[in-house]
Amino acid sequence: MASASGVVTRFAPSPTGFLHIGGARTALFNWLYAKHTGGRFLLRIEDTDRARSTDAAIAAILDGLQWLGLDWEGEPVFQFARAERHKEVAYQLLESGNAYRCYTTPAELEAYRAEVDEARKALADAKKAGAPAEEIARLESVLAAKPRVFNSPYRDGKTPPAPDAPFVIRLKAPREGETVVEDQVQGRVQWANKDLDDMVLLRSDGTPTYMLAVVVDDHDMGITHVIRGDDHLTNAARQTQIYTAMGWEVPTFAHIPLIHGPDGAKLSKRHGALGVDAYRAMGYLPDAMRNYLARLGWGHGDDEIFTTAQAAEWFDLDAIGRSPSRFDFAKLENLNGVYIRNTSDAELVRQIKVIAPEVEAAKEFASRIDEAGWKKLELAMPGLKERAKSLVELLVAARYLFVPRPLDLDEKAAKILSPEARKHLAALKERFAALETWDAPSIEAATRAYAEETGAKLGNIAQPLRAAATGRTVSPPVFDVLAVLGRDEALARIADQAA
Ligand code: GLU
Repeated sequence: MASASGVVTRFAPSPTGFLHIGGARTALFNWLYAKHTGGRFLLRIEDTDRARSTDAAIAAILDGLQWLGLDWEGEPVFQFARAERHKEVAYQLLESGNAYRCYTTPAELEAYRAEVDEARKALADAKKAGAPAEEIARLESVLAAKPRVFNSPYRDGKTPPAPDAPFVIRLKAPREGETVVEDQVQGRVQWANKDLDDMVLLRSDGTPTYMLAVVVDDHDMGITHVIRGDDHLTNAARQTQIYTAMGWEVPTFAHIPLIHGPDGAKLSKRHGALGVDAYRAMGYLPDAMRNYLARLGWGHGDDEIFTTAQAAEWFDLDAIGRSPSRFDFAKLENLNGVYIRNTSDAELVRQIKVIAPEVEAAKEFASRIDEAGWKKLELAMPGLKERAKSLVELLVAARYLFVPRPLDLDEKAAKILSPEARKHLAALKERFAALETWDAPSIEAATRAYAEETGAKLGNIAQPLRAAATGRTVSPPVFDVLAVLGRDEALARIADQAA
């Protein structure tokens, strides 16, 4: 299917690990750019590293993208399955004279590298020791004759060691001039061709290298824009050489700076370099996550909170920053809190249900929640969601709904339930039993009336009520709690603690 704009982007993860936060952001930017331009967003699984690619990682990547709502068009392309096509292109380059068979063995290559190291060390040692100028000059010319970039003798037609000797296919890359990438984020970046060696396209066992596979796949998939982490910037130069050798159009590149931790250091687990699945389990909403990730390295003025439709409308490559963005858990939490308050109670419960079995802090009660319980949770949501920053917090704060009577009191709650407090509870129980309607305003009115009549402070009554109703001293507003529990359960819990 052709797209209106002709833009085609892709996300091309290697399934050697889970979908981490940087990958999710790359996917999002490609997805947003396709949305913005009315283009297409494709998915390619780069599973050529057979030893490290796993089905579990593929499943986690697909799952993570789906959770984030980043839908791709069509079936994912699996790179490994296209190895024959990659090989075909390598031979095409061989035939057109843009590649050659190189018979240098790995041992020879290693020996050459060792020679380079040795020459470099000899020069450094001589300089340190204050060797005479002629000696330094001699060592310099030895080193100059050994460029770091390996020049294969087979490029210039050296005869193969044996007719059936194993070989790799190398690109006959230009030696003169420069390779230039006009990057949409980094600007114009250039490499002296003498510094780029003739890369291997096909290994001696006939398998394609990563560099070849990416170019062939991007070309065959009709990719027009490659948006990815700037750790791939040098690859863009190498890939440009392959495109040029094939006479293919080079896609537009946009290399986005990597994500750092709040302290500016490379993102680590401690900073949040976790799989997207971990964020789901921590109770982040996919919408909040998407909003947060969109702001990591891209911005639209001072707008912090926006819908996905707005992000798609505004997103453009020229607004991607050049410096690394900083991952900030506190910001993500706050944003998640805002999204929680703006999400319907039913939807929150639906999402909590999904993650509940994974929430360690709720294991003890979550498995017992039945349909009526989930309904109760929905009723409790308005009181709960005012403060919560994650679905996990919501679930944990709702613990009181699901604990069996008599409640286990924590230390503070037990302390609050003094003999005097228990007397108040006994009196309140009678008043509550007589209420015509069981809702928070009626319960609150009755409590206030009781406090006024007895001259007790409202706080000295509300806290024991809370302790009796929840077993804790912290909870959503206590009158809401009692209302949500329902008259029978609330009165029974109060009776359990009353004197
Ligand atoms: N498979 C590469 C990675 O996961 C990405 C390749 C690309 O985007 O060109 O880092």
